[in-house]
Amino acid sequence: MISNRELYRLPWTLPDNAISWLEPTAMCNLACDGCYRENEAGSHKPFDEVKHELDIFQKYRNTDCISIAGGDPLLYPDIVKLVAEIKSRGLKPIVNTNGKALTKELLMDLKKAGVFGFTFHVDSKQGRGKEWKDKNEVELNELRYHYAKMLADAGDIACSFNSTVYEDTLQYVPELVEWAHKNIDIVHTMVFIAFRHVVPTMPFDWYAGGQKVDWDKIMYHSDTKRNVDILSTDVLAKVKEKFPEFEPCAYLNGTKKADSYKWLLSERVGTKKKIYGYVGPKFLELIMAGHHFIKGTYISYSSPKLNRMAKSAMLLLFPFDKGLRQATKQLLKNPIRLFKKTHMQSVLFIQPVDFMENGDQSMCDGCPDITVHKDELVWSCRLEELKNYGVFLRTVPKNNEKLEVE
Ligand code: SF4
Repeated sequence: MISNRELYRLPWTLPDNAISWLEPTAMCNLACDGCYRENEAGSHKPFDEVKHELDIFQKYRNTDCISIAGGDPLLYPDIVKLVAEIKSRGLKPIVNTNGKALTKELLMDLKKAGVFGFTFHVDSKQGRGKEWKDKNEVELNELRYHYAKMLADAGDIACSFNSTVYEDTLQYVPELVEWAHKNIDIVHTMVFIAFRHVVPTMPFDWYAGGQKVDWDKIMYHSDTKRNVDILSTDVLAKVKEKFPEFEPCAYLNGTKKADSYKWLLSERVGTKKKIYGYVGPKFLELIMAGHHFIKGTYISYSSPKLNRMAKSAMLLLFPFDKGLRQATKQLLKNPIRLFKKTHMQSVLFIQPVDFMENGDQSMCDGCPDITVHKDELVWSCRLEELKNYGVFLRTVPKNNEKLEVE
């Protein structure tokens, strides 16, 4: 359906990346089904330790933004000070939260401190309590709108949403993509992350070094058989059933598989009423290279102001990009459209760790969500392995004596 040769490979690498992932706390006020972090009450790191982690990022990694995650970072007592610290280092602070602890007052304090954006994780398997219990993904759009409106009212803060995609919630993704379109003026990014867990049907044994580990002691495991191999291309196919014109333009491959789409990105331009089109790979290449040339970093989140400049971008850059040319044609079809507010919006599908037949684990190549552990840069999605076993776990195919460790 898609070919990596026709998409732009995002230029992100270990030492030069758009994003870095900081966890000041592992404490959370929800219990998401697909979470890969142990919820530890009172696990707030001392502020100096968090500053030291920022130093490590800045020593090893050229980065555009810092995703402040966790746990839920809004529970971190020094969150406002932390946002100000990140901003003072010339980086964009992005708060990755479930939103539960966000009040108007805290939002204004964070804005004053220099917050650049928020990514709200909202989906139906978070145990959000009475009001949202039994609501499906589409019904949760009411909550998403509440957060998007809060940010819009505060002004000039980038707004993104994350949802984990499970076998039974894949069906809702097209409607969420449609909802995002209807709110293109205040929702800048939608991210869908395929659910991954260790499940009993996996044909592997797990090892910490030479020591065998019980699979059901791994923090992110399910006791029952579940579908843990939804691909980003499955999510794309589902969206295309409803919106055949939907097109991705850029990707990150897997470390073990060049033609897997660990991050699959689409960028669209339009108004609340009409999507004019989807930009192509050349546009993304121009934006990434241009940003790196001018600012010295690859761009991740763009400001609402920049998103509102979609029309200027179309008129300026359409000669270079086929997708943009088609979108510009739509724009110019009706001259009244030239006077309408036009926006840009990102839709991203993420496919975390994949297990190869020989036990190799394929990660996102140029992982943007790298975090700091013991002064090293490590995958945040597998941090629990380091915390509990001191090493990343290896998977060894069952009944394969040649590969097994004594
Ligand atoms: S490798 Fe893991 S931490 Fe890195 S981007 Fe992929 S899922 Fe996220």
